Amino acid sequence: MPRTTEDHPQASDPRVDLDRVAHLKHREDAAFLDARPRSLALLDRARRSMPLGVPMSWMDWLFDNPPIFVDSADGAYFTDVDGHRYLDMYMNITVSSAGHTHPAVVAAAIDRLQCGVQFGLPTEDAIAVSEALTERWGLPKWQFALSSTQSVTDVIRLARIATGRERLLTFEGKYHGHLGELLAIEEDGRTVPEYVGIDAADIARTEVVDWNDLDGVERALRAGDIALLIAEPALTNSGIVFPSSTFHAELRRLTRQVGTLLLVDETQTLPCAYGGLVRQWGLDPDFVVLGKSLGGGVPTSAYGMTDDIAAFIERQGEPYEVAGSAVDEPAIGGTMFGNALSMAATRAALAEVWTPENHARTQRLAALLVAGMREAFDDASVDWDVYQLGNRAGFRFSPTPPTNNVEAGERDVPAVRHLQRVFMANRGVWEFGWWCGPVVSAQATRDDIDFYLSVFAEFVRDLLE
Ligand code: PMP
Repeated sequence: MPRTTEDHPQASDPRVDLDRVAHLKHREDAAFLDARPRSLALLDRARRSMPLGVPMSWMDWLFDNPPIFVDSADGAYFTDVDGHRYLDMYMNITVSSAGHTHPAVVAAAIDRLQCGVQFGLPTEDAIAVSEALTERWGLPKWQFALSSTQSVTDVIRLARIATGRERLLTFEGKYHGHLGELLAIEEDGRTVPEYVGIDAADIARTEVVDWNDLDGVERALRAGDIALLIAEPALTNSGIVFPSSTFHAELRRLTRQVGTLLLVDETQTLPCAYGGLVRQWGLDPDFVVLGKSLGGGVPTSAYGMTDDIAAFIERQGEPYEVAGSAVDEPAIGGTMFGNALSMAATRAALAEVWTPENHARTQRLAALLVAGMREAFDDASVDWDVYQLGNRAGFRFSPTPPTNNVEAGERDVPAVRHLQRVFMANRGVWEFGWWCGPVVSAQATRDDIDFYLSVFAEFVRDLLE
């Protein structure tokens, strides 16, 4: 998972009194722990069989408070084992943007479970899904995986085959999954690993430049040795950092000029609009990666490609020459990828959840969120930037939006984010804070938004009183 804002501990607005934040945090932490004895007991037990007591360590790392254990969910809500019901505005960093237990996805999944889910053979659903993705994202050919990390990995390999080049170019503040090659950051002019456990050779062929830095992109592309440039429509893992008005058109022009392929990663932005931001903003990539919410919560991911790229997969009887020997298959795929359950759920999600009407509705609700958050700040006399990206919103502790991830870090106050999260949780709202501000799921209602805003306003009052 991407790094948290612990790297930027300063308060960026004098109105934020860090002593008061610490005092409120102490109060809220105590209330949180007090009201969750069952979760804490499960955590004690879990620590004996899982590091940190969780099935995946970031479930602990991402939160300042101990993880809670979930019992069940319905629509926009979930309930923990202590019986607390939360309006879920986190939605697992957008994975559950369809809302939990969407009836169409549940019905399709149950139906498929009863008819078998793993064959290593296609079902007709895969065709329907590919056709729908082509209609929405424009790219003619699709392959599937179970996570975006895996899709991005396959795309990199195809790009290397297609270009005969090895190097990659991406942006500071990005996250495109947990593959070694992309867990790189730029430090003092050197590309260094972002985490422990990354092989230096993995990142040696990756270059990282600042978001919105077109000169940097041009310089990096100049040598003509970059196979693939990887970008999101907007940076989503540094809060939202928007592209400048010419950014994407220039990325396309510059990459075409030097024969570099372009991947737009819509893993997080898929629920923002019908056909994602690729369609809404008129982007024209060689590859698109989709994931997270694509299957309405059922694990799946997809990558789209041009016919020219697909030809490298379809090529038969013409082995590639690799290090002096003949190799005839691109290194893509996995035995569970494109399984019948993922395909059935995705077909249902595309047909019933990710419809133009639902996108319009969640965008309208997100606009209400933005208006309500702004009002809460107006009432407290602060002019902090509130933004909307499709079905989600967010804010920063500064009136000016950042243009890259360093500025994004400078405009944030991690201590307040931790407080916000526990304060909201104690009042029945589960949200992430920081880079994933409130997400409006396809099952959220106007009442849910009003509820969120009432708790948010209370938080702002308490913080800034
Ligand atoms: N791309 C982006 C933009 C992401 O935000 C993420 C996950 N947060 C990924 C790729 C990786 O997705 P996954 O966890 O499904 O591998």
